Amino acid sequence: MPILVMKFGGTSVADLDRIRNAAEKVRAEVERGYDVIVIVSAMSGKTNELVGWVNETSPMFDAREYDAVVSSGENITAGLMSLTLQEMDVPARSWQGWQVPLLTTSAHSAARIESIPRHNIDQKFGEGMKVAVVAGFQGLSPEGRITTLGRGGSDTTAVAFAAAFDAERCDIYTDVNGVYTTDPRITSKARKLDRIAFEEMLELASLGAKVLQTRSVELAMRYKVRLRVLSSFEESTPNSGTLVCDEEEIMESKVVSGVAYSREEAKITLVSVEDRPGIAAAIFGPLADAGVNVDMIVQNISEKDYDDHPEAVTDMTFSCPNDQVARAEKAILDAKAADQIGFSELVVDTDVCKISVVGIGMRSHAGVAARMFAALKAENINIKVISTSEIKISVLIDRKYMELAVQALHDAFELETNS
Ligand code: ASP
Ligand code: MG
Repeated sequence: MPILVMKFGGTSVADLDRIRNAAEKVRAEVERGYDVIVIVSAMSGKTNELVGWVNETSPMFDAREYDAVVSSGENITAGLMSLTLQEMDVPARSWQGWQVPLLTTSAHSAARIESIPRHNIDQKFGEGMKVAVVAGFQGLSPEGRITTLGRGGSDTTAVAFAAAFDAERCDIYTDVNGVYTTDPRITSKARKLDRIAFEEMLELASLGAKVLQTRSVELAMRYKVRLRVLSSFEESTPNSGTLVCDEEEIMESKVVSGVAYSREEAKITLVSVEDRPGIAAAIFGPLADAGVNVDMIVQNISEKDYDDHPEAVTDMTFSCPNDQVARAEKAILDAKAADQIGFSELVVDTDVCKISVVGIGMRSHAGVAARMFAALKAENINIKVISTSEIKISVLIDRKYMELAVQALHDAFELETNS
């Protein structure tokens, strides 16, 4: 029997009616001839409630007990889903992570999946079980303790099962009907994509498109798991949602597939740092140690060359999430106090945002950056920092222009039309 993995997020299993609705979709796939592995999240809001209880009980909690508590939301959904399927005469049973077993590292609350031995579930499929309902987000450490995979981790559970069981596809049911060219709340011209390449989805996910956990996309790309994102609140057809797939499966590809943004960014500049070997390491080492996620980095060209002018200075600018600014400032000031770095001034701008255009088509097309900059110029938006990769161009701009910039770029790259 071909195997299908179907994952239902928290809003898709938020109450008994919705679990029934999800179970109907599972039954339809069983009737199409699949053995199905269903991965469930906790009912929406449940995990947050559990995390709250842990924090209230023990602010400096033991991470093993945190995992014991927060993994429990998924257990309830798995059992209820299995019961619902049984009521529909679909042979189903629930599996907690440790029963499969889904083996992980012992990094509690952020564990990584090591392996998923198939034999237990395969044996039950062999005995006539049609649906294995697996609690997402949880696993078993080498020490025999329950682990969790990090918030949003059920997506990663689903992809890992699809890879381990050679599933034909991994369908991720959620409350949106696919991946869009940009956030539909910012422009009504945003269009649902029929297909998107793994690499593009990875960029969009790490830029904050909340629809898939970034790690799940990495895993899907590595094992070439075809992922489909679709709504559990709509009738599903074979073409519903967005297929995240290998770029070879994408026929026509636009130069740019999507415009992403990250609202809460900050820009920090060290004015007149010494321009000498080791200065970047001296700045970014302490930032990394402090857990600051540095994103864009720009070092200005010095007027004088270090070899002839050891006294030369330059400016160093970087961006990081707004809520990490205090940590970043402290790390830099501490490094200065310890005489590891010297500079004349630290300038912090917390009113910026990052806008990115993403597309695999960029690899083979020139002029994408020029088109992006021209569109921003036409709106009189000043660019503060630019960075590029093979399939992405990002700029830092004033936050007040965020919506305008997204709309302008969506228009400039003609994303509202299909071809
Ligand atoms: N229930 C977990 C969370 O809310 C895992 C998941 O739903 O993916 O983060
Ligand atoms: Mg999720």
